Amino acid sequence: MNVLMVCSELAPWAKTGGLADAVTGLGNALVARGHDVRVLLPRYAHLPGAGVRLRRLRAGRHRFSEIETGDRAAPRIYLLELDELTAESIYTADARDAGRFIRLAAAALELPTALKWRPDILHCHDWHAALTPVLNRAAGSARVARTVLTLHNVGYQGVFAADVLEQYAPPQLRTAIAPDALAGGDVNFLRAGVHAADIVTTVSPTYAAEIRTPQFGMGLEDVLSTRGATLVGILNGVDYDVWDPRTDPFLTAHFDATNLAPKRQLKSALAARLGLQADATTPVVGIVTRLAPQKGIDLVTAALPGLLRETRATFAVLGSGDVALASVLTSIAREQPTRVAFTDGYDEALAHLIFAAGDLTLVPSRYEPCGLTQMYALRYGTIPVVRATGGLADTIEHFDPASGAGNGSVFRDADVGGLSWGLRTALGWFDDRAVWSRLVANAMAADFSWRNQVPHYERLYASLL
Ligand code: ADP
Repeated sequence: MNVLMVCSELAPWAKTGGLADAVTGLGNALVARGHDVRVLLPRYAHLPGAGVRLRRLRAGRHRFSEIETGDRAAPRIYLLELDELTAESIYTADARDAGRFIRLAAAALELPTALKWRPDILHCHDWHAALTPVLNRAAGSARVARTVLTLHNVGYQGVFAADVLEQYAPPQLRTAIAPDALAGGDVNFLRAGVHAADIVTTVSPTYAAEIRTPQFGMGLEDVLSTRGATLVGILNGVDYDVWDPRTDPFLTAHFDATNLAPKRQLKSALAARLGLQADATTPVVGIVTRLAPQKGIDLVTAALPGLLRETRATFAVLGSGDVALASVLTSIAREQPTRVAFTDGYDEALAHLIFAAGDLTLVPSRYEPCGLTQMYALRYGTIPVVRATGGLADTIEHFDPASGAGNGSVFRDADVGGLSWGLRTALGWFDDRAVWSRLVANAMAADFSWRNQVPHYERLYASLL
């Protein structure tokens, strides 16, 4: 099949979070299955980067460049020139973003002509690409392809004062947008896209059910629940070439399920680097996260005093985002420097080390569309303690020491009691070496690779053709 992905992020070219990893992972896995996949994203000021060549193209009112990667195992990548809307950052967080992503939607329908290539599927990701299905549907019999809109997080919808449409949009767009996506003087890109796409997907089955309810739908639950069987949850995969304890270039020692001694060396190295006091019998709990309300890190800061008093756990936290949360974490770490280390920032290398070296990883999200960090942790034999929501619920099964089944600790309530129960339960397992070995073996045996997920997308695409 010919698939054109339309999106704002693509790893490693433009990444602020899990979206970039997901589009790259899915794209590569589809190419590996023989599909002709191409990706369109805006040309941000930092692209394409030193030493990379561009080939220019023109179609209609838009100008594109293809990145000459020479990589036949990956999709071909096209960048839309943004001209006066170019900015250094991936998001400007003002009306210019509306302009950029309106332009992206319109350009996606013109790119195939420039390429003399016909996509079967336009696969659009998140609110940034959500107007592509709107324009495609409005084209009627001249439509370019069937459309799939994937929701990576309905907490981000692209809401702007509606006058951005006069400023940036082709005239047919306003009339093509569903009236309820234009309510209250605003335009809601994601709502418009959910109405217009042939199929809507999201990144886990549980999240697909949750977002039909007021608690998780963020105001879109009405339109999402009308989609019935055309709203589908497909779990994201992991790129095991990047996240592999046997070869990870960010690590100074490598291990697998049959030889865990190097993992213990890494634990000593992590403790030494962060100033934590931890020997082999000290449980080290890692957290790698955006500091955003969604992630429940305020529950961690509220639970920490009790956990530090009543357990032997030691915490290695890496996060960036909310300034107030960062300052609470900084002061807890200052009070108990041998038990809590907080690194404020985005650090890919330290993230790999924390997943590899820790005993546990804590993911207490209030909601989590899919979540990648719990799957990375499993690969490194690090046991996830997660809240039962979204993709966390779909990937982590609460361990049962009696039967030996399960791969982590799962708690239900997003509060201090729930989180503390989840962590204490796992710490109990940690203290029994036979039980813990079984749990680690289960974790490392799990396979969440993209290869397993791609057939779901193939069936979905085929159902539209
Ligand atoms: P989200 O996309 O909502 O942030 P995911 O779990 O889907 O959550 O993906 C987060 C990705 O970003 C993971 O690859 C994780 O390792 C990475 N990450 C998050 N925060 C940091 C950080 N402070 N430093 C390094 N990597 C981070």
